[in-house]
Amino acid sequence: MESHLTNNQKIVLQTLEKSEQPLGAYSILFNIEKKGIKSPQQVYRALDKLIEIGAVHKIESLNSYIACKHENCKARESTSFLICQECQKVFEVVENNLPDELSKLSRKSNFKYSTHNLEIFGVCKACG
Ligand SMILES: [Zn+2]
Ligand SMILES: [Zn+2]
Repeated sequence: MESHLTNNQKIVLQTLEKSEQPLGAYSILFNIEKKGIKSPQQVYRALDKLIEIGAVHKIESLNSYIACKHENCKARESTSFLICQECQKVFEVVENNLPDELSKLSRKSNFKYSTHNLEIFGVCKACG
Protein backbone atom coordinates (compact mmCIF):
# COMPACT_ATOMS: atom_id res chain seq x y z
CA MET A 1 0.00 0.00 0.00
CA GLU A 2 2.68 2.46 1.03
CA SER A 3 4.60 1.92 -2.20
CA HIS A 4 1.90 3.84 -4.10
CA LEU A 5 2.43 6.92 -2.00
CA THR A 6 4.20 10.03 -3.16
CA ASN A 7 7.16 11.34 -1.23
CA ASN A 8 5.07 14.00 0.53
CA GLN A 9 2.43 11.44 1.49
CA LYS A 10 5.11 9.15 2.93
CA ILE A 11 6.63 11.97 4.96
CA VAL A 12 3.25 13.00 6.38
CA LEU A 13 2.34 9.40 7.19
CA GLN A 14 5.68 8.78 8.92
CA THR A 15 5.24 11.90 11.01
CA LEU A 16 1.83 10.72 12.19
CA GLU A 17 3.09 7.20 12.83
CA LYS A 18 5.81 8.56 15.10
CA SER A 19 3.40 10.69 17.10
CA GLU A 20 1.71 9.42 20.26
CA GLN A 21 -1.04 11.98 19.96
CA PRO A 22 -3.12 13.15 17.03
CA LEU A 23 -1.58 16.08 15.15
CA GLY A 24 -3.16 19.07 13.47
CA ALA A 25 -2.14 20.00 9.94
CA TYR A 26 0.03 22.87 11.16
CA SER A 27 1.84 20.67 13.70
CA ILE A 28 2.53 18.22 10.89
CA LEU A 29 3.85 21.05 8.74
CA PHE A 30 6.05 22.30 11.60
CA ASN A 31 7.53 18.78 11.92
CA ILE A 32 8.33 18.35 8.24
CA GLU A 33 9.30 21.80 7.01
CA LYS A 34 12.93 20.70 6.94
CA LYS A 35 12.02 17.94 4.48
CA GLY A 36 10.90 20.40 1.84
CA ILE A 37 7.18 20.61 2.50
CA LYS A 38 6.47 24.31 2.82
CA SER A 39 2.76 24.92 2.54
CA PRO A 40 -0.33 23.75 4.41
CA GLN A 41 -1.91 22.91 1.04
CA GLN A 42 0.76 20.26 0.47
CA VAL A 43 -0.01 18.78 3.88
CA TYR A 44 -3.78 18.83 3.26
CA ARG A 45 -3.37 17.25 -0.16
CA ALA A 46 -1.25 14.44 1.31
CA LEU A 47 -3.74 13.99 4.17
CA ASP A 48 -6.69 13.75 1.74
CA LYS A 49 -5.04 10.90 -0.09
CA LEU A 50 -3.95 9.13 3.12
CA ILE A 51 -7.49 9.38 4.49
CA GLU A 52 -8.91 8.10 1.22
CA ILE A 53 -6.80 4.93 1.42
CA GLY A 54 -7.48 4.47 5.15
CA ALA A 55 -3.88 5.02 6.32
CA VAL A 56 -4.88 8.11 8.28
CA HIS A 57 -8.08 9.10 10.06
CA LYS A 58 -9.33 12.53 11.02
CA ILE A 59 -10.47 13.25 14.57
CA GLU A 60 -13.14 15.82 13.84
CA SER A 61 -13.53 17.34 17.31
CA LEU A 62 -9.77 17.82 17.71
CA ASN A 63 -9.32 18.88 14.09
CA SER A 64 -6.33 16.55 13.96
CA TYR A 65 -5.14 13.38 12.34
CA ILE A 66 -3.80 10.00 13.41
CA ALA A 67 -2.12 7.17 11.55
CA CYS A 68 -4.23 4.03 11.52
CA LYS A 69 -2.50 1.18 13.34
CA HIS A 70 -4.69 -1.53 11.86
CA GLU A 71 -4.05 -3.57 8.75
CA ASN A 72 -6.85 -3.38 6.21
CA CYS A 73 -8.77 -0.86 8.25
CA LYS A 74 -12.19 -0.39 6.77
CA ALA A 75 -12.77 2.99 8.35
CA ARG A 76 -13.13 5.59 5.61
CA GLU A 77 -16.08 7.94 5.96
CA SER A 78 -17.05 6.41 9.29
CA THR A 79 -14.68 6.41 12.24
CA SER A 80 -14.99 5.53 15.92
CA PHE A 81 -12.49 6.66 18.53
CA LEU A 82 -11.94 6.53 22.26
CA ILE A 83 -10.23 9.72 23.40
CA CYS A 84 -8.50 9.87 26.80
CA GLN A 85 -9.19 13.14 28.55
CA GLU A 86 -6.09 12.74 30.73
CA CYS A 87 -3.31 11.94 28.25
CA GLN A 88 -5.11 12.89 24.98
CA LYS A 89 -4.26 9.51 23.49
CA VAL A 90 -6.67 8.27 20.87
CA PHE A 91 -7.66 4.64 20.39
CA GLU A 92 -9.50 3.52 17.31
CA VAL A 93 -12.46 1.21 17.78
CA VAL A 94 -12.25 -1.45 15.07
CA GLU A 95 -14.25 -4.60 14.38
CA ASN A 96 -17.46 -3.06 15.55
CA ASN A 97 -21.02 -3.35 14.34
CA LEU A 98 -21.71 0.33 14.85
CA PRO A 99 -22.94 0.94 11.29
CA ASP A 100 -25.62 -1.73 11.88
CA GLU A 101 -26.50 -0.41 15.33
CA LEU A 102 -26.59 3.21 14.24
CA SER A 103 -28.58 2.27 11.19
CA LYS A 104 -31.21 0.62 13.42
CA LEU A 105 -31.20 3.59 15.78
CA SER A 106 -31.61 6.02 12.89
CA ARG A 107 -34.43 4.03 11.36
CA LYS A 108 -36.43 4.44 14.57
CA SER A 109 -36.45 8.15 13.84
CA ASN A 110 -37.28 7.60 10.17
CA PHE A 111 -33.76 8.60 9.31
CA LYS A 112 -31.50 6.87 6.82
CA TYR A 113 -28.02 6.27 8.24
CA SER A 114 -25.10 6.96 5.96
CA THR A 115 -21.87 7.54 7.93
CA HIS A 116 -20.68 8.43 11.42
CA ASN A 117 -17.76 10.01 13.22
CA LEU A 118 -18.03 8.80 16.75
CA GLU A 119 -15.78 10.15 19.48
CA ILE A 120 -16.09 8.74 22.97
CA PHE A 121 -14.35 10.68 25.75
CA GLY A 122 -13.13 9.10 28.96
CA VAL A 123 -10.05 7.74 30.69
CA CYS A 124 -7.69 5.14 29.25
CA LYS A 125 -6.25 2.12 31.09
CA ALA A 126 -2.89 3.79 31.73
CA CYS A 127 -4.52 6.89 33.25
CA GLY A 128 -7.41 5.19 35.03
ZN1 LIG B 1 -8.27 2.66 11.16
ZN1 LIG C 1 -4.81 8.25 29.12
